[in-house]
Amino acid sequence: TLSDRLADTFKNLRGKGRLSEADIDATAREIRIALLEADVALPVVKEFTAAIKERARGEEVSGALNPAQQIVKIVNEELVEILGGETRRLRYAKTGPTVIMLAGLQGAGKTTLAAKLALWLKEQGKSPLLVACDLQRPNAVNQLQVNGERVGVPVFAPEAGNGSGDPVAVAKASIEEATRKLYDVVIVDTAGRLGIDAEMMQQAADIRAAVNPDEVLFVVDAMIGQDAVTTALAFQEGVGFDGVVLTKLDGDARGGAALSVRSVTGKPVMFASAGEKMTDFDVFHPDRMAGRILDMGDMLTLIEQAEKVFDQEQALKAAEKLSGQGGDFTLEDFLVQMQQIRKLGSMSKIMGMLPGMGQFKDALANFDEREIDRIQAIIQSMTPAERDNPKMIDGSRRLRISKGSGTQVSDVNTLVDRFHEAKKMMLQMARGGGMPGMPGVPG
Ligand code: GDP
Ligand code: MG
Repeated sequence: TLSDRLADTFKNLRGKGRLSEADIDATAREIRIALLEADVALPVVKEFTAAIKERARGEEVSGALNPAQQIVKIVNEELVEILGGETRRLRYAKTGPTVIMLAGLQGAGKTTLAAKLALWLKEQGKSPLLVACDLQRPNAVNQLQVNGERVGVPVFAPEAGNGSGDPVAVAKASIEEATRKLYDVVIVDTAGRLGIDAEMMQQAADIRAAVNPDEVLFVVDAMIGQDAVTTALAFQEGVGFDGVVLTKLDGDARGGAALSVRSVTGKPVMFASAGEKMTDFDVFHPDRMAGRILDMGDMLTLIEQAEKVFDQEQALKAAEKLSGQGGDFTLEDFLVQMQQIRKLGSMSKIMGMLPGMGQFKDALANFDEREIDRIQAIIQSMTPAERDNPKMIDGSRRLRISKGSGTQVSDVNTLVDRFHEAKKMMLQMARGGGMPGMPGVPG
């Protein structure tokens, strides 16, 4: 896999000032292969890798990631960006029924998708009407009727039934029907051919002109791979469309078609269809598709984790700097932490919501605000030297501190013990062991 190959390429590289040209080239080569394997069209691959190289050149080497991880992160971000960032929503008509027209090759999945979309819309509280405008294929009207029944959505079809009638007239009549019967979304299923075909294009263009859809969706089978580009361009030229629906993502296609179509047409992928069931349908998620195209889920997870751990290290360093000691967690920091915890308010409730924190819940339920006042008093009775280096706090110092703060020597002992515990936890966190618990929380 790409992960393995990249790991080999970058065994010994970490912590250079900037990504080297050789690093970038080596990674770009692997990314290029991965994209081609995912069926992204060659011109799109070229353009994309060039953009990646450009961006990688300007990038500082991150402290958290090795160069390969860093470039993969860039690639992933760019993929998500190109695939559309945030998903675009359907545009509904301001008045009258919203008209959605489907176009695409025969077998792309239009008729199936029409019903899936109808069901999805129904679940959003819409009342859709399916319209059979594929009057070419012998069984097409019937197929839509069967699908419509499965999702409980009515189908508007010519009286004559299969294989006859004028699709443009049917499309027009369906809008009147929808207006009359108060359907708010009309989904127009159209005919396709196995190949791109002038007559079919013209028919689709005529339907479009007749009903002026709010959305024309180009439906494309993810399995057709490289051919997606020529097909998409032909439909863009012949009919025009506003958005793309990718079907058959339940197959083993890696989804490069999404990137190709998006890049060459500039139109967003809006929905994804992945299966024979009517519920196998969702709005398109660019981040999931990027992961699928790169086929590097594991590495992306690793990258995320590496960055999280790195953030923890940074946070710890910042806390150390705050203490003015440039390196050690002191009683002063401990005090600041306690005060922050108090600011959070009802701790037991907050902690109860965090995963893995249940074990601290009881301790927190008994959390005593006065305890923090006591701790504050004790720490404030220490000399700065003692706060920085609690190890020097011997018996006679403990006695002095307890007197000064109006507490018992045992209170001072408890505090010093807790401080050492908290410090241990901080170190554990810094080593990337995750967050074992809120340090310094009195139990
Ligand atoms: P149309 O010619 O564009 O209307 O395509 P159809 O809706 O008739 O679909 C063609 C074939 O693909 C049918 O056998 C469908 O069951 C199948 N199909 C459609 N969408 C999907 C999908 O998302 N996944 C799978 N596995 N099959 C699909
Ligand atoms: Mg069909």
